[in-house]
Amino acid sequence: MTVRFKNFSKKDFFKKVNLHIHSSFSDGKMNFEELINEAKALNLECFSITDHNTVEGYKNISDIPNSMVKGVEFDCYMDFNFPHILGYGIDVESEDLLKITTKFKKGKLQLIKRILSSRNPKKVIDAIHKAGGIAVLAHPCCYWCLNLEKFVSKLKKIGLDGIEAYYPYDRATRVFTFHREEKVLEIAEKYNLIKTGGKDTHGILTGEDYNGNLQ
Ligand SMILES: [Zn+2]
Ligand SMILES: [Zn+2]
Repeated sequence: MTVRFKNFSKKDFFKKVNLHIHSSFSDGKMNFEELINEAKALNLECFSITDHNTVEGYKNISDIPNSMVKGVEFDCYMDFNFPHILGYGIDVESEDLLKITTKFKKGKLQLIKRILSSRNPKKVIDAIHKAGGIAVLAHPCCYWCLNLEKFVSKLKKIGLDGIEAYYPYDRATRVFTFHREEKVLEIAEKYNLIKTGGKDTHGILTGEDYNGNLQ
């Protein structure tokens, strides 16, 4: 898993690789299978559907293409911030993981409910590791903290493996971006974090859909 991600460079992300996609199991518009079919049609080299706090979408999918990495995105709370932690390469049937997935039946949770049920990042990272996956901090430029390096190093100490360096921050600027991508790349090198990337797609894979919340 780790090796596979390390082979991608910045130019691969967005065009050939998209490791951050939401389906209708959380707040995306497309259903799970439609997204898989679209990714196949586009010949994506690697992609991951990372719904908020749920892996329900992976149930009943018998034909998972080789290019697909099983993923999830958890809402966490740490130091007056709400970091989102992505898990990749997870066993979606892992008991440890299922213990921390959402108990709400329908994925389309309002943001307020998601915030109220935010998780402890250490528990999330441990559960991702127990499920055989790697834990990656999503959209790091979007967190309101004065010292991003301190924030990331704290997560690294509790087991963080990677950081979502390649993210469409230009699209997110109308929401919140507090730090620059260059800073994230510098931190990734310094703390030996795997650099991942994705579009945070909430619609079709070729679209620029972004619904304006921290996602
Ligand atoms: Zn997010
Ligand atoms: Zn997301």
